[in-house]
Amino acid sequence: MPPVFTLPDRPAAAIAGGDATFPVGRIFCIGRNYAAHAREMGKDPDREAPFFFTKWAEALVPNGATIPYPPETENFQFEAEMVIAIGKPGAAVSAGDALDLVFGYAVGLDMTRRDLQLEARDKGRPWDTGKNFAFSAPMAPIRRVADGGHIAAGAIRLSVNGAIRQDADIADLIWDCAETIAHISRFERLLPGDLIFTGTPAGVGAVVPGDVIDVTIAGLPPLRVSIGGKEADFA
Ligand code: MN
Repeated sequence: MPPVFTLPDRPAAAIAGGDATFPVGRIFCIGRNYAAHAREMGKDPDREAPFFFTKWAEALVPNGATIPYPPETENFQFEAEMVIAIGKPGAAVSAGDALDLVFGYAVGLDMTRRDLQLEARDKGRPWDTGKNFAFSAPMAPIRRVADGGHIAAGAIRLSVNGAIRQDADIADLIWDCAETIAHISRFERLLPGDLIFTGTPAGVGAVVPGDVIDVTIAGLPPLRVSIGGKEADFA
């Protein structure tokens, strides 16, 4: 039977070093995975088990884009994050086997309507309005494991209009990439096309229309996005 309408093709991410693309299925995001950021959010990093939330794949934004300032917020914030791209399926994998699932790594941004997220958090409501919305997941091209191996350490930095705002090291992750993959795979079978945003270091803050965000992680293609106007078309 014919569908009554057709949906757009699946979103896809760029892969460094060629024309191939990475079809994106789901986006998982780890919360509070750097101790200093957990403290700046008013939480104790020593007492919490890892947790995650999700974004639609349609929230992806390619490198170099201008993203509209989203509606219903007065506190639109950046979170620089390393992203794991999953290339093989796996459920309940051990940390020792987890990195076998990894296709590559990328620089990403978990853009956040902080006022809505904190209101939801404090009222015990879902985080979707604060975290999962159009244009909330910018990501630079994926660098394949085959082209540079796995990443356990290296500088992660974010600047706004050239001024450094986040400056940390991947080695400071509370749960490293293998532990993060193992954890999520206990709850959901990971599949090729899944992305995992691994959490942000301290220093998160707000942007306004006209700002330019640059994010770098040692060894990965850099990410730049610009913030567009509040009246930009969301249709
Ligand atoms: Mn985040």
